[in-house]
Amino acid sequence: MDNEARLILVPTPIGNLQDITYRAVEALKTADIILAEDTRVSSKLLKHLEIDKRLSAHHKFNEHKTATSIVSKIEQGNVVALISDAGTPAISDPGFLLVRACVEKNIKVECLPGPTALIPALAVSGLPTDKFVFEGFLPQKKGRQTRLKLLAEEPRTMIFYESPYRLVKALGQFAEYFGANRKACVCRELSKMFEEVKRGTVTELGEYYTERQPKGEIVIVVEGKA
Ligand code: SAM
Repeated sequence: MDNEARLILVPTPIGNLQDITYRAVEALKTADIILAEDTRVSSKLLKHLEIDKRLSAHHKFNEHKTATSIVSKIEQGNVVALISDAGTPAISDPGFLLVRACVEKNIKVECLPGPTALIPALAVSGLPTDKFVFEGFLPQKKGRQTRLKLLAEEPRTMIFYESPYRLVKALGQFAEYFGANRKACVCRELSKMFEEVKRGTVTELGEYYTERQPKGEIVIVVEGKA
């Protein structure tokens, strides 16, 4: 990997440590500075990869403040790698503000291809993959209903991140706003030992998870409006 000063977004595994790429390992080994969302989480990954480097914290509570100083470190010639707890940085994770700050200063930004939860979920769903929208997390309270009303008209396949505690509520709301027979796919614990992919209508899936309290990490893929 060359040492041209830049920001590199480095995707990390979403469950299975074997999903780290050769290029990601190389980028972490050679970066001058590694920024991590949670240094405790990422230090375990670095230990596993036998990379002995100090991590600097870059998370949603400090990313507004630190962008300027990171930009100046890259301007001084450093290669800065950014990782989040899992998956691709800037995808429902810190990163966007830093990328934007770099773009504004004409600093080179690179994102290595790699793990992210939304793409395997979409690919395995059995729902159309030619056009899709990534909605990330729905607002928990304010704005949730407005978003759902708007999405009721969405013709493309929709992808949501959701916590296990709100899965049944979300499926119930999809039935209410999108129709009881709308098809969906719930992907739980992708790439992990207890991976589960469940397909059905939003009503069937709601019933299934009402009987079995879900655990772990979840992506919901929902068919668009016909
Ligand atoms: N940056 C990550 C990415 O590229 O996918 C997303 C981070 S976001 C804070 C975490 C959410 O991603 C989880 O709540 C879940 O919705 C989804 N997720 C992450 N890992 C997952 C997995 N192994 N299986 C299913 N969903 C996962």
